[in-house]
Amino acid sequence: MNPQKKVDLKLIIVGELGVGKTSLLHQYVHKTFYGEYQTTLGASILSKVIILDDTTLKLQIWDTGGQERFRSMVSTFYKGSDGCILAFDVTDLESFEALDVWRGDILAKMEQSYPMVVLGNKIDLEDRKVPPEMAQGWCEEKDISYFEVSAKNDINVAQAFEVLARQALSRY
Ligand code: GDP
Ligand code: MG
Repeated sequence: MNPQKKVDLKLIIVGELGVGKTSLLHQYVHKTFYGEYQTTLGASILSKVIILDDTTLKLQIWDTGGQERFRSMVSTFYKGSDGCILAFDVTDLESFEALDVWRGDILAKMEQSYPMVVLGNKIDLEDRKVPPEMAQGWCEEKDISYFEVSAKNDINVAQAFEVLARQALSRY
């Protein structure tokens, strides 16, 4: 069966500097882990086409490109986006605590039903500071799906993006 519908979705990924946002995006789109990425000012956009059920989805995923340092993102970054990945590093407690601020920032600009998923990245590392239950609990409270992922070892990355894409698609 040929997919009938075509939908363009703009997704964004936010979170503290160094949590692995750019790595997650490259793992998802290019199936590679480079390890080192330059932080260039200005958003960069990666595209990927996926098929979900009977729909061809063209995903445009916006990466912050270093501006997360200043926390308050330019509104053009959020504007018109269909969903968001909130990313933190499971070995960095502060990056998890910062999710409250990132979420608050987004909800101040977007509707209440705006699709979001949380990714706890770097689960390949030993020195974990955020236990799964802690992150899971925070997400359940907010009714957000939680994924434990590794951009490095390609664990759960595509699954997480796909769940967000499905949520965003269901609002069309
Ligand atoms: P960003 O600032 O959020 O875009 O983070 P980057 O993608 O630039 O990654 C920051 C650092 O974390 C880099 O040194 C990456 O190699 C490293 N990193 C990213 N993802 C992982 C992961 O899943 N596991 C490990 N061990 N390191 C990672
Ligand atoms: Mg980056």
